[in-house]
Amino acid sequence: MKIAVIGGGAAGLIAAIVARKSGAEVTIYEKMNRVGKKILATGNGRCNYTNMNLSLNCYHGNNFNHVEKVFENFGLKKTLNFFEELGIYPYIDESGKVYPNSLQASSILDVLRYEVERLNIEEITDFEVKELRYSKGKFSIINDDTVFYADKVILCTGGKASPQLGSNGEGYKIAQNLGHRIIEPFPALVQLKLKGKFFKRIAGIRFDGNVRAITNNKTIRIEDGEILFTEYGISGPPILQISRMAIEEMNKGETVYVQVDMFPNIEKNDLYEILRDRFSKIGYKNLEDSLIGFINKKLISVALNEAGFEDHETLSKNLNKKNIYKIVNILKEWKFQVNGHNAWQQAQVTAGGIDLSEVWPETLESKKVKNLYFAGELLDVDGDCGGFNLQWAWSSGYTAGYKASK
Ligand SMILES: Cc1cc2nc3c(=O)[nH]c(=O)nc-3n(C[C@H](O)[C@H](O)[C@H](O)COP(=O)(O)OP(=O)(O)OC[C@H]3O[C@@H](n4cnc5c(N)ncnc54)[C@H](O)[C@@H]3O)c2cc1C
Repeated sequence: MKIAVIGGGAAGLIAAIVARKSGAEVTIYEKMNRVGKKILATGNGRCNYTNMNLSLNCYHGNNFNHVEKVFENFGLKKTLNFFEELGIYPYIDESGKVYPNSLQASSILDVLRYEVERLNIEEITDFEVKELRYSKGKFSIINDDTVFYADKVILCTGGKASPQLGSNGEGYKIAQNLGHRIIEPFPALVQLKLKGKFFKRIAGIRFDGNVRAITNNKTIRIEDGEILFTEYGISGPPILQISRMAIEEMNKGETVYVQVDMFPNIEKNDLYEILRDRFSKIGYKNLEDSLIGFINKKLISVALNEAGFEDHETLSKNLNKKNIYKIVNILKEWKFQVNGHNAWQQAQVTAGGIDLSEVWPETLESKKVKNLYFAGELLDVDGDCGGFNLQWAWSSGYTAGYKASK
C-alpha cells in the first residue's frame, strides 16, 4: 500500500515513521527544500516537545472533545518513549516543559530525519502540492507539472502561522476542494497591539508580572511570567498565552482589555504602605525622582501621566492617600484596550482549521473522502504555549499514520 504524507513537519514526520513501521510504502511531499524547518524554530531553538502536565484543558477547538481519543492512542508516556528510543534524553524544567537534554531543537529534527532515512521513507522536497484529486480508489498528488499517485493520503500541511517556515494555509484549500469545511483560522499565541500613544517611550521594559484578559468586566484568562512592553503594545509568554481568548472575543465584536499587575506578589494595601513609607522618607524629592529605583525609569513619567498626575514636580511627601492609591492602581491594575495583534508571520500557532466534526474521531480519517487522513495544526485544534502544540502534532500524526497503514 502506498501512502503519501503531504507536509514534512512534526505531524508528517511522525505519521510517515509510524505508517512505514506498520509496513506501508511511504513518501513525504514537502514544499520547502528540507523537512521540519518549523521544528528548528520551536521553544526558542530548544524545542519544548511536550509537557508533563499534559491535560485536555490545555487544548481549544470547536469540537475538540470529539478527538480526545487521539491522546489515548499516543499520549505523554508514549511520546517520551518514542523519542527516548530515537535517542532523546528528556530535560524537564520546573514547570513541566520537556526539552531534549541537549537543549537543541535540531536534536529532535535530526533523530526524526535519521529514522526517516533508516526506514527508507522517500522524501520529495521542493514539491508544493497544489491539488489533491481522488478517483477510482486512487489519489493524484498534483503540483504544476507533476503528478504522483497514492492509495492513501495523510494531509498535514500545518496552519497559517509563521508562513516563512512553510505552512501558509494551502492545506485548507486542498481540503476544501475535497468537500471539507474550514473553521475560520485566526492567529493564536501571538503578541497583542494595545491602544495608547506612549508605547514607543516604554518599549523594551521587561518585568515579571501578571496579566489578565478582560471582556465585559469579566476576567477570561490570567497568566504570570515575563512581560515585555513593545512599540506596538505587549509581548512575552503570558501575553501569547492569553492572546487566543482575547482575539476570539474580539472576533465576536467584543472589546477586550489586558490588565497588568507589575507587583503580583504584593497586595494592593501593602503596596500602598510601601509607597507611603517611601514617600515619607524621601519626600523631599519630586514625584518622578522619588520613583527612581522602584520601577523602570522609562516607565515613571508614563505611569504618572496614566495615573492622572499632571504635575510631576510635586514633592512626594505632599501626596495624600487618594493620590498614592492612584499610583498603586497603575502599578497593580494598569488597563489597556487591545486593538489588534501581530500578523501571521509572528504567530506561533493557528486557531481554527479543518472542522473536526467531519473527521472520524478515532482514526482522523475524513468522513467525506475515504482513505484521506489529517494530522497536526491543519485541524481545528490548538494548544496552550508549553509543548502542547507539538504534542498534538505527535499524537495526531501517530494516529493518522498508524490508522492509515491498517
Ligand atoms: C516560532 C515557533 C515556536 C514554537 N514553539 C513551540 C514549542 O516550543 N512547543 C510546541 O509545542 N509548539 C511550538 N510551536 C508550534 C508548533 O511548532 C506547531 O504547532 C507544529 O509544528 C505543527 O506541526 P504540523 O506538522 O502540523 O505543521 P508544520 O510544522 O507547520 O508543518 C507543515 C509542513 O507542511 C509543509 N507544507 C505546507 N503546505 C504544503 C504543500 N502545499 N505541499 C507540500 N508541503 C506543504 C510545510 O512546509 C511544513 O513543513 C512553535 C511554533 C513557532 C512558529
